[in-house]
Amino acid sequence: MAYDTTILFRDDSYLKEIEATVLGINERGGILTDRTVFYATSGGQPGDTGVFVRADGSTVAIAATVTGETKEEIIHVLAPDQSIPAIGEKLRLRINWDRRYKLMRMHTACHLLSVVCPFPITGAAVGEDDSRVDFDLPEAGVTREGVTAKLMELVSANHPVFTRWITDEELAANPTLIKSKNVRPPIGTGRIRLVCIGKDASVDSQPCGGTHVATTGEVGMIHIGKIEKKGKENRRFRIRFGALPEGE
Ligand SMILES: [Zn+2]
Repeated sequence: MAYDTTILFRDDSYLKEIEATVLGINERGGILTDRTVFYATSGGQPGDTGVFVRADGSTVAIAATVTGETKEEIIHVLAPDQSIPAIGEKLRLRINWDRRYKLMRMHTACHLLSVVCPFPITGAAVGEDDSRVDFDLPEAGVTREGVTAKLMELVSANHPVFTRWITDEELAANPTLIKSKNVRPPIGTGRIRLVCIGKDASVDSQPCGGTHVATTGEVGMIHIGKIEKKGKENRRFRIRFGALPEGE
């Protein structure tokens, strides 16, 4: 039977630490709790790392977070050689916030890139220092300087980023919301989470279950590291933190 973890990062991606109770331990040592702030690997964003703090103050290191039988079942994967908490034990769950915040900034930057480059997305991977988005785009016709400048315009405008839930029917009536060519949003659960950018979503809205920053200004300085050709019709854009290096 799948567990239904109360998922707190969906409504508040800034929660760093909460108290939770251990509900189960699976056959591979993965820990299930009643609630969590740990994001589980999904949609190109890696899962959280962090620690569980026990009542005596000792910590248990969490090396990864993944989903189980359903997207609502969150499994915390222990690092090697950790003591295993007991079922029923109360713990403080604390994510590695420095890492997560970078991932939130990068993930939001990927949304901004999809606004600047409005082409079908064939793949994406969010990383702490480097993210990539692949577009179905036969002729580049875009430069890293030009794309970087447009990205930084959206960052500087400090647009709000917020989420909104819509029904399957609303999504079906607005097919242009879906930018990914290969990945379909999870239709059938009755509701879909939209991530919106700008006042009244004037800049963008698309289905996404990841964690994002609250304003585009928080993304900070970013640039396009490289535009690589991946096959005849694919261009891979790499996003990095910091200003565009000069003289490359
Ligand atoms: Zn997203």
